[in-house]
Amino acid sequence: MEPKLRKMASFKRIALVAHDNKKGELIEWAVYNKTALSRHRLYGTGTTGTLLEKALGQSVSKFLSGPLGGDQQIGASIAEGKIDVLIFFWDPMEAQPHDPDIKALLRLGVVWNIPIASDRATADFLLTSPLMVEDYEIILPDYSQYLKRQVNRP
Ligand code: PGA
Repeated sequence: MEPKLRKMASFKRIALVAHDNKKGELIEWAVYNKTALSRHRLYGTGTTGTLLEKALGQSVSKFLSGPLGGDQQIGASIAEGKIDVLIFFWDPMEAQPHDPDIKALLRLGVVWNIPIASDRATADFLLTSPLMVEDYEIILPDYSQYLKRQVNRP
């Protein structure tokens, strides 16, 4: 069976999220890469998005703040094919109140096979990939067997 594909345009819809201790690093990275980022559409959780918009002078579509549902909103947008790339600087050194939401967001990124960067080095490699500025077809994982599975009914 032919795999299902989803076309990403030559500009990408990039979601950016950073935990509080990582916000400075993400802003610094974004400012350094301002020109490259200006070719794309940016989205962010509430606080991260507001900080990015100010620092870049580029409009950022903002979801709710992460712990208030923003991570879940981004996850839902990924599932709906509305986000192409996730740059999520999560904090490996501090527990977060919305840990289940963080896991859910990272999980959905993998469920839908989108590129994800969780640290600055990976974000550098991702942003400088030629695929960032070309049309690209992602292979959607095949969940048809899963959807057809037998479930017990009462
Ligand atoms: P924030 O959310 O940008 O609104 O602070 C980030 C997060 O998910 O913790």
